[in-house]
Amino acid sequence: MSRVAYVNGRYLPHRNAMVHVEDRGYQFSDGVYEVCEVRDAKVVDERRHLARLRRSLDELRIRLTMPFSALSIVLHETIRRNRVRDGIVYLQVTRGVARRDHAFPAPQTAPSLVVTARNLDGSKREKEAQQGISVITLADLRWARVDIKSIALLPNVLAKQAAREQGAREAWLVDSKGFVTEGSSANAWIVTSDGKIVTRPADHGILRGISRAVVLDVIAALGLELEERPFTVAEAYAAREAFVTAASQIVLPVIRIDGRAVGNGHPGSIATTLRHEFHRHAEFS
Ligand code: PLP
Repeated sequence: MSRVAYVNGRYLPHRNAMVHVEDRGYQFSDGVYEVCEVRDAKVVDERRHLARLRRSLDELRIRLTMPFSALSIVLHETIRRNRVRDGIVYLQVTRGVARRDHAFPAPQTAPSLVVTARNLDGSKREKEAQQGISVITLADLRWARVDIKSIALLPNVLAKQAAREQGAREAWLVDSKGFVTEGSSANAWIVTSDGKIVTRPADHGILRGISRAVVLDVIAALGLELEERPFTVAEAYAAREAFVTAASQIVLPVIRIDGRAVGNGHPGSIATTLRHEFHRHAEFS
């Protein structure tokens, strides 16, 4: 089946889906994006993802004229046309096409909107969760507003590639004080030796993950102990469990950090429970 992409009002064959060379996303990474999980052909936590999109757009002063109700229709239609059952839907909004100039273009410049969707291999993802993943730690080289879900992802790209070259699945980024901020494309969590779940508060230093918010709800519902505070790499090495959260991965146990086994070197029971409970607390639309 051939894939279809939504580009500025049209559904196009994926291979012909193009934006202009002077799109500001292409020239300046001047745009924002969202990735939602698709499960049973439904969008998971669409409301929260669109609320975060609205916030990212407002922070960058990009005016998407399309109502969010219409955007929601495009998301669902792109999922339908690509026959996605279990996978992801991606949407990107840029400040539009204009002659190259760093300052904003004329206010009437229409933002560009692209939506794509694809299936993910469910059994591969499940196997990865059962085995757990390895992460490495690296300096966080990103800008000071990573709470905005901007498409400017070069430090994340370099970090993920470094992880891959070292045989790891993810890189955990470390701030100048030695605290873990988050992963290159996921939020980072540990469970201390006395069973407390620790994750960094959602300040400007991390992306406010939607899966993170859902996991906070699961933790509260299960009555587990939570500490929202920064944690160091040393604490992560000494943790009983570690895991990451992201829409495309839900909850993924971490079993090695910088080559050292986390806990007993197997996925922990808290991470596994949070993964199992996740969709009972998520919204479907
Ligand atoms: N942090 C970063 C840097 C990310 O890129 C992502 C997801 O892409 C996340 C965290 C997790 O966010 P969410 O749970 O909304 O997917």
